[in-house]
Amino acid sequence: IAQGGGADKIVFYDESLIKRKEISMRVQQLFPEALRNEEFQVYYQPKVNIMTGELVGAEALCRWFHDGKIVPPCDFIPMLEETNDICQLDFYMLDHVCRDIHKWIKSGHKSIRVSVNLSRKHMMNVNLLQSLLKTIDRHNIPHSCIEIELTETTSDVEFSDLKRVVKGLQSVGIFTSVDDFGIGYSSLNLIRELPWNVLKVDRSFLPTENGNNNENQSIMFKYVVAMAREMGIECIVEGVETLYQLKVLRSNHCDLAQGFYFDKPLPIKDFEQRLTKRFYDISNF
Ligand code: C2E
Ligand code: MG
Ligand code: MG
Ligand code: MG
Repeated sequence: IAQGGGADKIVFYDESLIKRKEISMRVQQLFPEALRNEEFQVYYQPKVNIMTGELVGAEALCRWFHDGKIVPPCDFIPMLEETNDICQLDFYMLDHVCRDIHKWIKSGHKSIRVSVNLSRKHMMNVNLLQSLLKTIDRHNIPHSCIEIELTETTSDVEFSDLKRVVKGLQSVGIFTSVDDFGIGYSSLNLIRELPWNVLKVDRSFLPTENGNNNENQSIMFKYVVAMAREMGIECIVEGVETLYQLKVLRSNHCDLAQGFYFDKPLPIKDFEQRLTKRFYDISNF
């Protein structure tokens, strides 16, 4: 219950809970029509090889255009997870991503890999792999163009379900990554037991320039990157915002970065321009 314990605060807490419930119901109510009207759009955030400056891939991130506003994922994804509607949205995203990749390949771009976030809510679905393949194969693109990002397992996802999904994806050549690595549960067990292709290190491992840094953080960062390298797992750091952080990546021999330093998640037109240019200017570091 609310800190300080005053009756007023308890009331406030209740109200915000009710408010949250209301927002949840509103989102859930609006969802079917929003999906039909294609109000959801794929934004693409580039992934960059910091040694060469080359754009090597992208992460697909969902944006909801509603009533003339852009709604960020944190304001609708948790609500859609309550009802499992998120599963439909994830497939909608994957479908659009595959369509875009197909177009890019046809127009002569080097084939790139795009990662799509998959909610934990899919893990119980024993037909998941089949459904993913059906969606991807409909667009006639190589499986290796798709990477599935999964966050670390929590108590409500059985390890055996996750194992089935990751091994299944591996068996058909779809890439898998551990998203937000380092801030969830049972990370090391997860890494040891499953055949991941990519480790996406959470940005909380990166130092900030104000000097307020935890010393353990930089030690852990160094060894997480080294661990991935020695295990032959690709390692990318998310949330890279500054030149300083980029230099930290480089001094730890981490080649791949994603973050505002290079680009925010971009609408498709802007991303396509980036794709055509292909290289970022890295002459300043
Ligand atoms: P995520 O998968 O960890 O995605 C990375 C988030 O970090 C994105 O937030 C991105 O905009 C943000 N980010 C990237 N670079 C930087 C940076 O340099 N600094 C900072 N401060 N942030 C950066 P976004 O787009 O708001 O998405 C939030 C979360 O929502 C995602 O976290 C993912 O868990 C979820 N999400 C987004 N799209 C989908 C989707 O289609 N399906 C599912 N299931 N989840 C999604
Ligand atoms: Mg992600
Ligand atoms: Mg992440
Ligand atoms: Mg996240």
